[in-house]
Amino acid sequence: MRRRQPATGRRRGGGIRWWILLLFAGYAAWQWFGSAETDPYTGETAHYGASAAEEVQLGAQAYQQVLGDAQAQGALLPPDTEVSRQIRTIAQRLVARVPEVTTQLAQRNQQQAPTFYEQFQWDVSVIQSDQANAFCLPGGKMAVYTGLLPVAQTEDAMAVVMGHEIAHALLRHGSQRMAQQELVQMGQMAAGMAIGGMDPQQQQAVMAALGAGAQYGFILPYGRSHETQADQVGLMLAAAACYDPRQAIPLWERMSASSGGQSPPEFASTHPDPANRIQHLQSLMPQALEFHRQYCADQPLQ
Ligand SMILES: [Zn+2]
Repeated sequence: MRRRQPATGRRRGGGIRWWILLLFAGYAAWQWFGSAETDPYTGETAHYGASAAEEVQLGAQAYQQVLGDAQAQGALLPPDTEVSRQIRTIAQRLVARVPEVTTQLAQRNQQQAPTFYEQFQWDVSVIQSDQANAFCLPGGKMAVYTGLLPVAQTEDAMAVVMGHEIAHALLRHGSQRMAQQELVQMGQMAAGMAIGGMDPQQQQAVMAALGAGAQYGFILPYGRSHETQADQVGLMLAAAACYDPRQAIPLWERMSASSGGQSPPEFASTHPDPANRIQHLQSLMPQALEFHRQYCADQPLQ
């Protein structure tokens, strides 16, 4: 017995219900452009998926989980060790300069200086691990993995890495990523409805393409621009906290040499090509040195 064919016309366009996609595109565009804000640190357009208060809460929850896991594995370095103290000092010096750097960068972009970071609950822990990695969660909770120590080598270089991580939190990249993910999820939902008339194999192919597109075509390029932004704001923070920003160049050279094609998550695929990154950092150096001169007149660089 033959399967009953649906009335002609209903399946034009391979069974895709184009009007649903159009409706979705219109709604998404309206939502996306309606929620556009200007990031005061970079002057670039940004979309936030969570408020700063929500970020603090989410970050603190994630942090508890990370610390709990580290503790269970006996990998949490006690706070009174020499290394923990050094890392904490660097974090404190960087965080102490957040208001000044925020005000100055916002001024440069003709934006009002934000104050959301006053809600942040800054904290840092050191975790024993071979990974040359560090992170700062939304809301200010940081961790440094001991595998980073031999790559960083100096306090200045460590300050550059931690400044970069703190910058991710200040730039609210976690919140921006949430906004992107919401958009992708809406897209998948719309696609799911639109391809309702297709056979399961075709549906699978469309969903896979959408997922891959979301991952490579949409999220990653934004990821890379976030890295570039974090490099910039982080370098200014390190310089204003009286660390030598020039150490960023040999640091990232060591970082790309040490990763040998196997980078840990934060410094992996979304990071800019090392040559591009170093070129970018070099172009930022005059501005960073100016921050250093301004805040560290009593400790000039050699
Ligand atoms: Zn990063």
